[in-house]
Amino acid sequence: MKIFCIGRNYSEHAAELNNDVPTTPMVFMKPHTALLVDGKPFYFPSFSNNIHYEIELVLKIGKNGKNIPKEFASSYYDEIGLGIDFTARDLQQELKSQGFPWEKAKAFDNSAVLGGFKYKNEFTSNIDITFSLNLNDKPVQIGNSKDLIFDFDTLISHISEYFTLQKGDLIYTGTPAGVGPVKIGDRLEGYIGVDKLLDCEIK
Ligand code: ZN
Repeated sequence: MKIFCIGRNYSEHAAELNNDVPTTPMVFMKPHTALLVDGKPFYFPSFSNNIHYEIELVLKIGKNGKNIPKEFASSYYDEIGLGIDFTARDLQQELKSQGFPWEKAKAFDNSAVLGGFKYKNEFTSNIDITFSLNLNDKPVQIGNSKDLIFDFDTLISHISEYFTLQKGDLIYTGTPAGVGPVKIGDRLEGYIGVDKLLDCEIK
């Protein structure tokens, strides 16, 4: 299985990191060893002093496809869930300034926290999904899928031009504004609407 992630897919988040809004989806990948599942704790890695949380809606691909037209894209995912795209922000700045790929800052072990999913048909609309992240019981990020620069169908169509999508692949669709650092002892809880789907302790 493959993990795709989308960078700068909410304009307020692009602005908070002084990045331009992209004109085509910005795609990067994490290996499956990046997954952190089942509510397991995240152990703060030794190579960074500035790990940021990024809460994101996650699509689970339900069938294989290549060059998927946008109008058929919605039949390629059945479940929408929540994940955290942990980012070593210090390392990322360093790599970006050198023009290097940023895998070490984005794709390291346990950097892709995966919470629970809801079936697509449990939502009245996939362009009005509110999701949020609490840090130690305080809300720090609140997003809504209507603010996506590139919506779910556009992402699936675009990614599948370059990569064959396979059942079980995941797409982390980008984070809204409000990203910030974690420290040992913190607790992160993610919600879609009022449903708590993600719980992660920093150790
Ligand atoms: Zn992200």
